[in-house]
Amino acid sequence: MQAINHAATALILKRKFPSAPLMGLILATEAVEYLWVGLNIIGVEKTIVDTPMKSVADVHLVHMPFSHSIATSVIIAALVGLIVFWRSGKAASAVSIAIGLGVFSHIVLDLLVHAPDIALTPLIGSPKFGTGLYSNLPLPALVLETLWGVFCWYYYRGSKKLLGLILALGAASIPIYSAAINIGEAALSGHNVIFAFVIMGQMVATSALVWIFAREKDDQAAIQAAV
Ligand SMILES: [Zn+2]
Repeated sequence: MQAINHAATALILKRKFPSAPLMGLILATEAVEYLWVGLNIIGVEKTIVDTPMKSVADVHLVHMPFSHSIATSVIIAALVGLIVFWRSGKAASAVSIAIGLGVFSHIVLDLLVHAPDIALTPLIGSPKFGTGLYSNLPLPALVLETLWGVFCWYYYRGSKKLLGLILALGAASIPIYSAAINIGEAALSGHNVIFAFVIMGQMVATSALVWIFAREKDDQAAIQAAV
């Protein structure tokens, strides 16, 4: 799932756990993706980007047992939650739960759209899961994940600008989800590490934009909830 729709999940958590910091929640929803970027750069995990790359279906996440397995996601979510709890004290138990849920939300959402590339555990021979939408029906996958982003916005009662951001980033990524429409993604063909850096850049930019736009509310009475 792309960065904007992972980050949108932080909106639901912010509404449920108002004391949790919004940026902390956004970073939590993308924590395992940052881990994936790092592990790809140092070569521990491996991605194959076909030549030519026409769409997300040409990106194969062939080895990512540490960042994107169900078992490691549970462990990372629990560890991050415990660290937040330890750093913040008992008063912040709701915050640590929210952050832990944010971390775990990532793998759940990826399972909804990924090719079957998510292992149960990092152990060799583990079965792999994923609906296969990215490899078989990328455009419907984009519609589905954008609907998730819009639902998060609706639940949060965000501003029209925030809705515009979610829809605009969804529309801007149509060429990446369509083999028929190309705007230069072929430049990434065969460049798995550069692809990881592009994903990192997308996450950083998206996180900042969601954080800025989510703090604006059309409903003045709700402004305090976002601060
Ligand atoms: Zn992911």
